[in-house]
Amino acid sequence: NKIELQNLVQLGKIGSGNSGTVIKALHVPDSRIIAKKTIPVETNNELVINQLLRELTIMRSVKAHPNIVEFYGAYYDQSSNNELVILLEYMNCGSLDKILSVHKAFCQRNKASPDKSWFNELAISKISYAVLTSLSYLYKNYKIIHRDIKPSNVLINSKGQVKICDFGVSKKMVNSIADTFVGTSTYMSPERIQGNVYSTKGDVWSLGLMIIELVTGEFPLGGINDTPDGILDLLQRIVNEPSPRLPSNLDETRYKREITDFVNRCCVKNERERSSIEELLCHDFVTKYSSAENDKEFKHWCKKMKNYIKSEKQLKKEETERMKFE
Ligand code: ADP
Ligand code: MG
Repeated sequence: NKIELQNLVQLGKIGSGNSGTVIKALHVPDSRIIAKKTIPVETNNELVINQLLRELTIMRSVKAHPNIVEFYGAYYDQSSNNELVILLEYMNCGSLDKILSVHKAFCQRNKASPDKSWFNELAISKISYAVLTSLSYLYKNYKIIHRDIKPSNVLINSKGQVKICDFGVSKKMVNSIADTFVGTSTYMSPERIQGNVYSTKGDVWSLGLMIIELVTGEFPLGGINDTPDGILDLLQRIVNEPSPRLPSNLDETRYKREITDFVNRCCVKNERERSSIEELLCHDFVTKYSSAENDKEFKHWCKKMKNYIKSEKQLKKEETERMKFE
């Protein structure tokens, strides 16, 4: 079942983030499509590299869970410029940030107003359940805290599954990979920004911010680019200003009051007063969509997202072709 790097055929770039690049690849022996993540490693130090690989084995030791992206293996490839290669289950509807950006492009193209987010209440409830239940599993069984919940680390496939990835990467690992990695994220909780000890509730804060972004299409508290000081200023605002909230004039035909209450329990600045993962798993907003009928509807929604992404990609391709001739 082990995947050998030489049996992979690269199919195209999926995306790139702070740490590296993700490529879609075909594993020829069993025709499996996988995601191949490549992270440049700054160091030649064998001890550090072995430490990294050991940490990645922790990922391997995490037993399969329906809401965690499957891990197929990690390699250190010295032949190709000191790269760390991580092989993961491919999620064919992509990440939530991708869906957000396709929605924006779609609205622009169709001159539609962007206020009707594609993320309806059912979708956000399903996503919240998936995030909470996988976080609970990781902590209960492995004492792993995710630390990096954000739209690009929550992935969807057309089977109607929601899975999280990129968890438990330690500080040491983060520091030894590419210098472009800043190690800070705007989804970090106030206690983490301030450098205090933090718990699994840090991930709860990030989930709250993510939900606001899914509903409104914008990162709350104003974006990084709103001020000349960028991210540092934004982090200051997270610490000093009142908690972000969902807009008070939410479209009542699309969102009910449970979602507002749910977000209000996630986005509490004082960690001790913030709800825990286990408490939120019992919240009405999460439990009310658990029927088989809802599962079916959500699967349908995922397929729709996949089609939107596909057609947006096609339109973009055509546009680039046209530009070549003009
Ligand atoms: P970041 O999460 O900071 O954006 P990553 O390198 O983790 O950076 O991922 C880059 C992009 O690749 C993500 O935004 C996501 O859209 C995509 N991606 C990552 N892992 C997978 C996967 N297993 N299946 C499909 N797409 C993925
Ligand atoms: Mg990621």
